Amino acid sequence: MKICVLPGDGIGPEIMAEAVRVLKALDLKFEMEEAHLGGCAVDAAGDPYPEATQRLAQAADAVLLGAVGGPKWDTLARELRPERGLLGIRKQLGLFANLRPAILYPELANASTLKPEVVAGLDILIVRELTGDIYFGQPRGIELRDGERYGFNTMHYTESEIRRILRVAFEAARKRSKKLCSVDKMNVLETTQLWRDVANETAPEYPDVELSHMLVDNAAMQLVRNPKQFDVMVTGNMFGDILSDEASMLTGSIGMLPSASLDSNNKGLYEPSHGSAPDIAGQGVANPLATILSAAMMLRYTFAQEAAALRIESAVKKVLAQGYRTGDIYEPGTQKVGTKAMGDAVLAAL
Ligand code: NAD
Repeated sequence: MKICVLPGDGIGPEIMAEAVRVLKALDLKFEMEEAHLGGCAVDAAGDPYPEATQRLAQAADAVLLGAVGGPKWDTLARELRPERGLLGIRKQLGLFANLRPAILYPELANASTLKPEVVAGLDILIVRELTGDIYFGQPRGIELRDGERYGFNTMHYTESEIRRILRVAFEAARKRSKKLCSVDKMNVLETTQLWRDVANETAPEYPDVELSHMLVDNAAMQLVRNPKQFDVMVTGNMFGDILSDEASMLTGSIGMLPSASLDSNNKGLYEPSHGSAPDIAGQGVANPLATILSAAMMLRYTFAQEAAALRIESAVKKVLAQGYRTGDIYEPGTQKVGTKAMGDAVLAAL
């Protein structure tokens, strides 16, 4: 089990150190090698995704990433920005499936802006297609036409692109409560009529999973009205971009949310959903749980080590029940701890 470890920038190295400690505490044999990605790579090698990192990432079975970016690099030319490194690695590794769970632990129900009874115990997984759709479609641009500026993009999907992301979602639903909701806009967009047709054609391969469909505008509404009706949701790149952010914000605790981006062989890049939090970097106060939970997703999806993944997730639940909180999820009556102490608590719970 070869893991390429990319701590990145800002709080990245602090939170990654805790995730690595947790992985090392398991009775599993990993080969872990570290490299630079993002701003630190620009500083070290003049490139946000240097060749040495590319070689390591391509040779590994999985990549575990902290976060990249920060004000120090915001004024650089676009091709040198840390985000370019992130887009570069996603593209090079062919990571077309983005999995983002939105889980609200009962102990953190007050962190949400929604009523606790609506969100407590929320546990949904959004599967987003990551390499197609209107974000990549050609032609695109802004031109002068008939004396005025004209902006245009192209939405498209091939049936094979749709089928492969649906299969990832059906497989994920199989590992959970076997309910899959496919989100489209088939009443207006032909591309998504095809999406719905392919979903229906794929469903018989998974007779144990119950497939339903929802229009994206209704899905956005249902996510705030009654989010617990959902288990796994699958959708295209643009709708998924918006719905996965909406779903993660239901929880109110960005420091808790992991994510996975997979290729067609279950090789994956695993990272917290949050950024590099430059405002708290170097202070030892960042919440490492999203990164630790990303490591759990890596064990589940790339290495098929379900028991070890569950062990980590149970340990996280336990430290929350014990009352340990980093600053971002702190409320009176709980015990405020820093990054390392939170890692210690997870190790003790393991
Ligand atoms: P952010 O997620 O870094 O921070 C938003 C807020 O949440 C900040 O107040 C931060 O302190 C807090 N926060 C985030 N993670 C936390 C954690 N683990 N523990 C405690 N608090 C946490 O988003 P931003 O401020 O918009 O972006 C900062 C930088 O991160 C930018 O350079 C941006 O480009 C980059 N970014 C990177 C990624 C990525 O690497 N995938 C994703 C988003 C943003």
